[in-house]
Amino acid sequence: MANPILGIIGGGQLGSMLAQAASKIKIKTVIFSDDPESPAKNFADIFIFGKYNNEKKIEEFINQVDIVTLEFENIPYQTLNKIKKLKNVQPDPEIIKVIQNRYLEKQFINSLNIKTTEYKKIKEKKDVKLYKNLIPGILKTTTLGYDGKGQYKINSGEEIDKLEIDFKNEFVLEKKIDLKKEISVIVTRFGKNSFEIYEPIENLHKDQILNLSRIPAKVSKELILKSQEWAILISEKLDYIGTLCVEFFIDKFNNLYVNEIAPRVHNSGHLTINSHNISQFENHIRAVCRLEKIKILKNYNAKMINILGQDIEIYRKKNFKKNEYFYDYLKKEPKEKRKMGHLTTIEN
Ligand code: ADP
Ligand code: MG
Repeated sequence: MANPILGIIGGGQLGSMLAQAASKIKIKTVIFSDDPESPAKNFADIFIFGKYNNEKKIEEFINQVDIVTLEFENIPYQTLNKIKKLKNVQPDPEIIKVIQNRYLEKQFINSLNIKTTEYKKIKEKKDVKLYKNLIPGILKTTTLGYDGKGQYKINSGEEIDKLEIDFKNEFVLEKKIDLKKEISVIVTRFGKNSFEIYEPIENLHKDQILNLSRIPAKVSKELILKSQEWAILISEKLDYIGTLCVEFFIDKFNNLYVNEIAPRVHNSGHLTINSHNISQFENHIRAVCRLEKIKILKNYNAKMINILGQDIEIYRKKNFKKNEYFYDYLKKEPKEKRKMGHLTTIEN
């Protein structure tokens, strides 16, 4: 059988890297994005611009593809569900529906007896006052948040009255954890009990945005095994197909908590392009296109830093060493805090 043509919804850097990985294994890609200036249009075989509720454009998209996947979870569920009636969508829209809502996501995780931070649903400001035990805490929008957007730190009870938040959307109030470390585990699931899992990646954030990722993570053997066990359990219980990332918190007492699940390839896994025989991107393509599962092997330890905003200009002029790999996302506007590129350094 000829290779399937893969449709990808979303045209950011994750879409670009998925398209590049696909092209490496001779899978053609059609990218559908609501941004006409999407970086991924440089890498896809076909690029379609359209709003995510534009039925005509969606039709044009699905007519050209065999399988549909996504580069980010904030695509309207209705759109995904409509596509699912005609084409194979992986991961399944029902999974996206749970994970794109922070409250449902946390309920699901806790239903597996996996710990998250303590949390409560918040509909209006006065609800925050009911849960003083969760302060210091972070108020997070239940939907459409990313890179710390839609999050408000609340350090004390007095700060509640001063909050200038539009409670049009629902929020989740989460108790703040005294973080010792953050790690993430990336797993690609091909089917029942069939998966490839990467070792935990250690992550450092700045202003709630990922700044640096590295392998190996400097954590105990016990935490390595437990985080991997939880990532596998989550992907099995979701009956997930493709690459998924679980973000974890580790507190001062070495307690492990799941922070959130990304039903897609993840920023912390960019280093797998250079550290492993098969990257998180290629694995995602292999799983959703039902290609052969290949055992992953780590060739190198590695670290990755994100390049934000204007800093990209410095990197664009830089000379790199042989063990340094610079990725420019080719975004037109270097807005402040916008992810513009990354640099991975491999170590023997
Ligand atoms: P996003 O969806 O924007 O990635 P996260 O919920 O992962 O949002 O939060 C971004 C970062 O903010 C986390 O990686 C962590 O560094 C910090 N953070 C978020 N929630 C908490 C918490 N409850 N306690 C301590 N730090 C937190
Ligand atoms: Mg996060």
